[in-house]
Amino acid sequence: MKVIVDPDRCVGNGICEALAPELFEVAVSGQARLLVDEISSDQQQLAQQAVDSCPALALTIVP
Ligand code: SF4
Repeated sequence: MKVIVDPDRCVGNGICEALAPELFEVAVSGQARLLVDEISSDQQQLAQQAVDSCPALALTIVP
C-alpha cells in the first residue's frame, strides 16, 4: 500500500512527520511527502495512525 498526499489540503503542520518520521517528511515546499515507495506490513499501523491524525484530511491510503 501507499499513502498519497493531497497538495491542495496539506498545510504542512508536520503532524504526520512527528508521528511517523520514517514515512513522512515535510519538504521545503511546505508540504508532506512520502519517503518510501511502498509501505511495508509492519509500517501499516503507523501509516494508518498518521492518516487518522492529519487534521487537514490530506492523507489517503491507496492499495
Ligand atoms: S499532518 Fe496532514 S496537513 Fe500536516 S503535514 Fe502531514 S499531510 Fe500535511
